[in-house]
Amino acid sequence: INTIGVLTSGGDAPGMNAAIRAVVREALSKGKKVKGIKRGYAGLLNEEIIDMDEHSVSDIISRGGTILQTARCLEFKQPEVQQKGAEICKKHGIDGIVVIGGDGSFQGAQKLANHGINTIGVPGTIDLDIACTDYTIGFDTAINTAMEAIDKVRDTSTSHDRCSVIEVMGRGAGYIAMWCGIANGAEEILIPEKYDHDEAALIERIKENRKKGKQHYIIINAEGIGDSQGLAKRIEAATGMESRATILGHMQRGGSPSCKDRMYASIMGAYAVDILCEGKSNRVVAHADGKFCDFDIDEALAMTKSVSEYEYEIAKNLV
Ligand code: ATP
Repeated sequence: INTIGVLTSGGDAPGMNAAIRAVVREALSKGKKVKGIKRGYAGLLNEEIIDMDEHSVSDIISRGGTILQTARCLEFKQPEVQQKGAEICKKHGIDGIVVIGGDGSFQGAQKLANHGINTIGVPGTIDLDIACTDYTIGFDTAINTAMEAIDKVRDTSTSHDRCSVIEVMGRGAGYIAMWCGIANGAEEILIPEKYDHDEAALIERIKENRKKGKQHYIIINAEGIGDSQGLAKRIEAATGMESRATILGHMQRGGSPSCKDRMYASIMGAYAVDILCEGKSNRVVAHADGKFCDFDIDEALAMTKSVSEYEYEIAKNLV
């Protein structure tokens, strides 16, 4: 490997900059050249490729977002477009690529590997929905941002004897909702993996708890279920309790990354370069069983995971 390319793809996540910085500096320390590819696979196809040196990544470790920017590029699902992407890499002398993103981005990386470009995926998503790893870049910052926001909504809900439906991100997964639900002491956690859509039972629980003297009712609703405004309206109509929906939205993706996200993203970025230099390809970096490790991309994409049953059951007991 002589020249390593780095790109961020899919949704942005706080800590991606720390990973980019680690890729650049680890590669330079091993005498490699580094090229930054802007806007994910879309930028690769447009040849938005820049030379990177140690100063290109100065003063970015504490910044949210990604200096390389990111994009979704549906075209890249087409085989002839993937081949064109590999040819552009070769034209620019890029013989190894680090792809920072989610499962979709890893599928793109897998295709580049099939066309002879050495690729390593680094898990970057606030959703934690990558099966081979118990950590993804951005999740820690996102849950802390959401937790602080939910604390604030909780204060005002208590003062007004209100029911608050608070919607958090996570796409099809309920990890952010589970963590915040427990950390914020929510009365209900609605996650796509578990929610049975039995609204009559939900409303009955709200009425019961109101009788017991609960001054607020905090419902953490995952993006994968959605319809928070509708749910709040139906709860108000059925219980008479003033109900409001708050959709936290994109604030959860931004902000300065937490210490954990900076540290883990730095190790994972450097690890990706180390295994590329050892001659590995079509691998994804992970954190599992307390250690940083790597998996074959094909195997990683075939794995599944879900929220912990045990944690979900405990959350119900702690209300
Ligand atoms: P996040 O979970 O944060 O949204 P992601 O990487 O899963 O991240 P996607 O939108 O699924 O986000 O994928 C990002 C990009 O990866 C796509 O826009 C596309 O360029 C590429 N990609 C996705 N699926 C494939 C595929 N099957 N083959 C090739 N490229 C793909």
